[in-house]
Amino acid sequence: MSGTGLVAGRTAVVTGAAQGIGLAIARLLHEHGARVVLTDRDGGQAAEAAKALGDGVSALACDVTDEDAVAAVVAHAVDRYGALDVFVNNAGITRDATLGKMALADFEAVVDVHLKGTWLGVRAAAAVMRPAGAGSIVNISSLSGKSGNFGQTNYSAAKAGIVGLTKAAAKELASRNVRVNAVQPGLIRTAMTAAMPPDVFAAREADIPMRRAGEPHEVAGAVLFLASDLSSYMTGAVLEVGGGRLM
Ligand code: NDP
Repeated sequence: MSGTGLVAGRTAVVTGAAQGIGLAIARLLHEHGARVVLTDRDGGQAAEAAKALGDGVSALACDVTDEDAVAAVVAHAVDRYGALDVFVNNAGITRDATLGKMALADFEAVVDVHLKGTWLGVRAAAAVMRPAGAGSIVNISSLSGKSGNFGQTNYSAAKAGIVGLTKAAAKELASRNVRVNAVQPGLIRTAMTAAMPPDVFAAREADIPMRRAGEPHEVAGAVLFLASDLSSYMTGAVLEVGGGRLM
């Protein structure tokens, strides 16, 4: 841990952080001096990832759709590190299908993880940050929530919903110096997008002005900015990290 990083001495929680974008966020926050509580629904995977990051990182199993589990994560951060300064709602899933083929269960599962999960995280984090008079909450939305993606009526709805939730919470918490912002990544190279058919991935990539998919650490950079005091006068903002896609 460095004493000079952008979030030195802060305590951060990241959900869905055993891999992909969440892991990159946890790593970058830690590199910039934060103590990190790395959570994922698979506790074993979270523990392995935390161990690889080193001192000042603890792991906890947390399914973000479980109200008690989310509350336990916040309690853990406060008990172990004495504060909660940053909360990143990152956990996510996809269950893509066109309307004709999508089952109600696919809609509900995606809305549950993204929208209910983010709401539970925002509410639990705010309960600690509000009385402390400081904090930064960062919600991971998606450009799919801005544009709507074919085959993603569930995911696009949930990711657009996260924007509304972010702005409403930002208004409620602004006077307490708790900031709430969102990031909308475009096409990022992770397990989630590795599941896409290669021709679909290539077509999406060709559509990006920067002509390439992004890497998880490039999303993490925007999250670090929003978590840190560099963004001290920003709340209710949505940062697009998409290589120029869908400007
Ligand atoms: P990954 O699938 O690589 O990682 C997501 C992590 O979240 C996994 O470890 C997953 O566990 C975990 N997770 C899923 N459901 C839950 C849950 N209920 N509770 C706790 N953890 C859970 O995805 P990405 O890193 O690509 O995605 C991270 C975030 O970024 C998501 O919100 C995603 O929607 C968003 N995003 C991603 C983009 C991309 O192109 N990759 C673009 C735009 C947004 P498990 O493996 O067990 O499912």
